[in-house]
Amino acid sequence: MMKTAFLGLGIMGAGMAARLIGAGLEVAVWNRSVEKAEPLRALGGHVAASPAEAARGAQIVVSMLADDTVSRQVWTGPEGALPAMAPGAVAVESSTLTGPWVRELAGLASARGVEFLEAPVTGSRDQAVQGTLRFLLGGEASAIAAARPALEAMGSASVYLGPAGSAATVKLANNFLCGLQAAGLAEALALFEKSGLDVEQAFSILAEGAPGSPLVRAVGRRMLDRAYTPHFLVPLMAKDLAYARAALGDAGISSAVAEAARQRFIAADEAGEGQHDIAAIIEPLRKR
Ligand code: NAP
Repeated sequence: MMKTAFLGLGIMGAGMAARLIGAGLEVAVWNRSVEKAEPLRALGGHVAASPAEAARGAQIVVSMLADDTVSRQVWTGPEGALPAMAPGAVAVESSTLTGPWVRELAGLASARGVEFLEAPVTGSRDQAVQGTLRFLLGGEASAIAAARPALEAMGSASVYLGPAGSAATVKLANNFLCGLQAAGLAEALALFEKSGLDVEQAFSILAEGAPGSPLVRAVGRRMLDRAYTPHFLVPLMAKDLAYARAALGDAGISSAVAEAARQRFIAADEAGEGQHDIAAIIEPLRKR
């Protein structure tokens, strides 16, 4: 049986790791907060005490972590996964991260003889559970081939974008546009509520018209229902908008809109919505 490891059992990682186990792979899981590993143990996963313990002997190690700082710590810190990996094994980084860190991590893996695949995803909590994520791939063909059994267990599509760091650029642009839409949508729906309109009717004009993207339809519904059980947490979108703004800045593009949208997520976080879904960014606007 192919040995794999999964690092980071949050909203996304829990579903993804369960898919690996469900596909019949041998899976060692690790999470900072140990209680989140228990459901994976119940499914047949081995719970490791450190990233290094999880990664030892694994042919594929996948991580799904909050941000650059956490990714660096889990791969390269004390008891990190990378030094424990055998040459020829493949490190798959699926978190949403910056291009510069992804390229640095690719170099660190290469120096150890470890294959590296950048594989951020589109799709959210439900797609992680269902195994229908889309992987955006950056790296070498050999790393993609080595990671294939895990990718096929966790996703239904993958697209190759170029060398490591390429997928980060596309993923950050993807979330940049999602963040802008969510911020504008919160303002529009708060306007409807404060204008005494039939809010459902007014929302249907947006949802069924030109602005009616999958995000506007799904997140708008959650805003109106005040359904904030997290699919995607408020602070993580603030992080992605900061990373997107930095990527734009590195390309000489100064983005006022990325920062303006980020401030909506920061305001919601500061208002106590940090553990809620991004739909909760409407709440501070309702209270004004
Ligand atoms: P999440 O539920 O907050 O999970 C974050 C993970 O990072 C958890 O395993 C958490 O461990 C770990 N972590 C945070 N700080 C840590 C630290 N200091 N040391 C060690 N581990 C730490 O978020 P998520 O939604 O699963 O997102 C994970 C990644 O996927 C992020 O990069 C996010 O941007 C990206 N993403 C999310 C979605 C989505 O819709 N949710 C979609 C695509 C991509 P604890 O459990 O101990 O806190």
